[in-house]
Amino acid sequence: MAERGLRIAALYPEQMNIYADRGNLAVLERRCRWRSIAAEVTAVGLGEKLDPERFNLIYLGGGQDDDQRRCAADLVETKREGLISAAAIGAVVFGVCGGYQLLGRWYELGDQRIDGVGLLDVETVRSDGPRLIGNVAIECHLPGADPSAVLAGFENHGGRTRLLAGATPLGRVLSGHGNDGVSGDEGCRRGNVIGTYLHGPLLPANSWFADWLIATALEDDLVLAELDDQLELGGHRAACRAAGLSGR
Ligand code: GLN
Repeated sequence: MAERGLRIAALYPEQMNIYADRGNLAVLERRCRWRSIAAEVTAVGLGEKLDPERFNLIYLGGGQDDDQRRCAADLVETKREGLISAAAIGAVVFGVCGGYQLLGRWYELGDQRIDGVGLLDVETVRSDGPRLIGNVAIECHLPGADPSAVLAGFENHGGRTRLLAGATPLGRVLSGHGNDGVSGDEGCRRGNVIGTYLHGPLLPANSWFADWLIATALEDDLVLAELDDQLELGGHRAACRAAGLSGR
């Protein structure tokens, strides 16, 4: 019987951590501890295998193209099998930006194709056009969450991501660029596997989503205790305003 609590694997925390994406890990850990739920973050770096039984949330942050190249080869070679098994037994797999791209089928950079793990039915192509940069807000439909819940963050990517037939976006763009700047889709979700272009770091300004990830990873039908989220809600409102939404 696996140990209880939130057991997070942070993949490549040295290389895949732009815009301080590690803040997302701190939020997950703290929000558990504040509720007396055990939480542990384990770094799983280059060359290390991923034990699918050990973790209920696997996290892969954003990275520059060069870091992504190095990590992608390792991800496919040493961690793909573990990731697929973990997802099959219900672990949350959460990728941000470069991490999202690597959860998909591939990332094409010029004449080079970097294979991803294929957990999400998306393909990404590096565009010669301008990077998609700026504040972004999306409306998400997640099981059990408020149907009009908004995620607000920041995006900066050269890649354009396309959802393949049947793939479900994480949300609809209210403001900003999203997957490719034209489709109106942002991110992708397949069961508990989620990818998004939203950095921020995302979770400090979107505590409802942090709690959704925690509850989904714990899969206990656990209703999480309320926290005093005044600061977090203020952060959410500020991120929404920065993205041009008012009245949230
Ligand atoms: N290198 C990728 C791109 O530019 C991802 C960037 C990121 O993680 N912010 O598309």
